[in-house]
Amino acid sequence: MTAIWWLRRDLRLDDNLALATALRASQGAVVPVFVLDPQILAAPDVGAARVHFVMESLRELDRRLRECGARLIVRRGQPAQELVRLARESGARLLCFNQDYEPYARQRDRAVTAALQAEGVHVVACHDRLIAAPDALRSAQGGPFTVYTAYRRHWLERVLHDPSWTARHNRAGDVHLRPIDPALASLPIPTAAELGFALQQTIVPPGEEAAQRLLRSFTQREATGLRRYHRNRNRLDIEGTSRLAAHLRHGTLSPRAAARAALALRARSEDAELRHACEAWLGELAWRDFYTAVLYHHPQVLERPYRALFHDFPYRDAPDDWRAWQTGQTGYPIVDAAMRQLNQEGFMHNRARMIVASFLCKDLLIDYRQGERYFLQQLACGDAAVNNGNWQWVAGSSSDPQPYFRIFNPVTQGRTYDPNGVYIRRYLPELAALPDAYLHAPWELPEREAQRLGLRLERDYPRPIVDHAAARERALRVLRAQRARPHDQQ
Ligand SMILES: Cc1cc2nc3c(=O)[nH]c(=O)nc-3n(C[C@H](O)[C@H](O)[C@H](O)COP(=O)(O)OP(=O)(O)OC[C@H]3O[C@@H](n4cnc5c(N)ncnc54)[C@H](O)[C@@H]3O)c2cc1C
Repeated sequence: MTAIWWLRRDLRLDDNLALATALRASQGAVVPVFVLDPQILAAPDVGAARVHFVMESLRELDRRLRECGARLIVRRGQPAQELVRLARESGARLLCFNQDYEPYARQRDRAVTAALQAEGVHVVACHDRLIAAPDALRSAQGGPFTVYTAYRRHWLERVLHDPSWTARHNRAGDVHLRPIDPALASLPIPTAAELGFALQQTIVPPGEEAAQRLLRSFTQREATGLRRYHRNRNRLDIEGTSRLAAHLRHGTLSPRAAARAALALRARSEDAELRHACEAWLGELAWRDFYTAVLYHHPQVLERPYRALFHDFPYRDAPDDWRAWQTGQTGYPIVDAAMRQLNQEGFMHNRARMIVASFLCKDLLIDYRQGERYFLQQLACGDAAVNNGNWQWVAGSSSDPQPYFRIFNPVTQGRTYDPNGVYIRRYLPELAALPDAYLHAPWELPEREAQRLGLRLERDYPRPIVDHAAARERALRVLRAQRARPHDQQ
């Protein structure tokens, strides 16, 4: 029986449940297909970094499929129509795909399933892209979790003690495919530019092989890898995190493979600190599952804040402040360095994401949804569920937010997490000559010293667009007024 393997956010051969299912059912007669969906390509939050990552990952996958005896079929159009056509052309009686839990994807997949079933094609939708499927964990009351710490406890318990949660479904080396009928047409894999997305950033290398290299390097690095994750994860000046987010987002790496790497390191040692490091990193993979479950159970969070208290929050319309934030010109070096990292690399360190998000929705009182969309447009790892959950966490509007009165001070954050200014100097070369003592607050540099260094504020680097202390008071005033409203509006 011929089976279609419909690729979406699982661009890999290794440990892929939909592929493993298709292989088993068809004895290698698998037709791998990727459908370019005009509706996704036209969505306002899709950007060049993500499109480039996907297209180049597909190119690598096609090369590897050819080594296994097959090739990738690329089609363009409405997925239900394209897949029905492909099923007719190939004679496939089975369609396998890995589930996606976002609202558009779920609606699309329902349409595809109905269309294929009407053709007599059996459809298998697998749980693969998370370690815990959105319904896998339930609170004591029987509903989905809304608080991360409780979710994480249950999640970790299962991941540490139930091997079936992180089991490998297949090995890339065991993928042997029958040749694809030459009559089956395929579009060439386009470049991002051909699709209208000119990449301006230098992003993390795409593809399954790059993901495996990155994972190996992270688990093997002594001083800055997984072993020291709990110590280095917040440091902006150290490469102390995995940088795997885009690979997990697009499925060039299996989340179970990521978890297994941490579990293997943890199992090899009695060292409490190393075990703590591994569990801290596993906890990050749990965040990913948690936010995806929140979106799955509450799809409305993509449109409006989870908490009613924020539904009519008086955010400011401030186009000049917005542009300064977007372009890294706020006058706060840690905020500006972070935004330039995003604009240059399609990536930003997690601590920096929290700092710039807090600055946008608290210091500037600009709607978090503007920042949320901009992140999705710029990030190679842009993920609707995870991005939304984190933005709402910072804004204070999520199911489990940070305390509303917590407003990051960009100067002390910078001094704590980039103490020697390595991160700031990397992205703000115009400030490179500043002594460390002034790097996080250049406006404090004495005039005489500025002259000696040839630095002129305003000409070379902006003065702060807001005074943080005053902006903090303003945000607290607005937040307290909002919280004082009748309880039913909260
Ligand atoms: C405002 C804001 C927006 C964000 N938007 C995204 C996004 O669109 N896509 C995205 O993947 N991450 C997002 N994050 C989470 C986090 O910043 C990134 O996952 C992390 O910085 C990626 O770097 P890394 O791969 O080196 O992570 P590591 O520290 O090595 O963590 C390993 C993996 O765990 C997951 N992870 C880590 N932190 C989080 C988190 N807070 N929430 C959910 N999953 C997490 C990621 O898949 C990550 O690759 C956002 C965070 C904030 C504060």
